[in-house]
Amino acid sequence: MSLAEITDRIQKAEIAAGREQGSTKLIAVSKVQPNARVESVLSEGHRLFGENKVQEAAGKWPDFREKFDGVSVHLLGPLQTNKARQAMELFEAVHSVDRPKLANTLARLAQELGHCPDLFVQVNTGEEPQKAGILPSDADAFIQTCRDLDLPVVGLMCIPPVEEEPSLHFALLAKIAARNGVEGLSMGMSGDFERAVALGATHVRVGSAIFGARDYG
Ligand SMILES: *Cc1c(COP(=O)(O)O)cnc(C)c1O
Repeated sequence: MSLAEITDRIQKAEIAAGREQGSTKLIAVSKVQPNARVESVLSEGHRLFGENKVQEAAGKWPDFREKFDGVSVHLLGPLQTNKARQAMELFEAVHSVDRPKLANTLARLAQELGHCPDLFVQVNTGEEPQKAGILPSDADAFIQTCRDLDLPVVGLMCIPPVEEEPSLHFALLAKIAARNGVEGLSMGMSGDFERAVALGATHVRVGSAIFGARDYG
């Protein structure tokens, strides 16, 4: 699918949901994709990207930023505390804040560096043991912990279990956000971004539908 087709489908979903046009940001998830594909999407004028790993992003985005103005890169994957400093220097936003230890580290570094990326708290809406994210029942307290640390929590993020209807998880995330006065909702991927827009996503994270299948070979 082309970038224009995805953008068009997002717009239609916004209209169908009675939402303001352009209120959903499209994060093009460029992890594992060959540089040539990423560069062609940059050349089309797209500027908002998502990556899963600090190391991988560090290897390609400094060069792309030299060539293209106004690039914004968001970290979507899990963040180890020993990579937090590097992440704060590389990314405009981190979508995977999921535990007190990481929140404390980010707060300390924010003091030291004098800036902090926008932060999303990741919620493990499916309560899957292997998946990152704070449990729904702990989310309110954790969001408060982050706020007490003066961290800029702009949204919540979830990755629904693959075998379940994602809309239930999007609705749960929206409910947790609403009761905590959090505006951003990072939810929806290639297979379900329209359903996420219908439930209020402010950021959809679309990879393979834009770039094609990832080749992990
Ligand atoms: C890889 C990834 C995506 C994009 O997935 P697609 O199915 O390729 O759209 C979105 N969010 C996260 C957290 C990811 O790791």
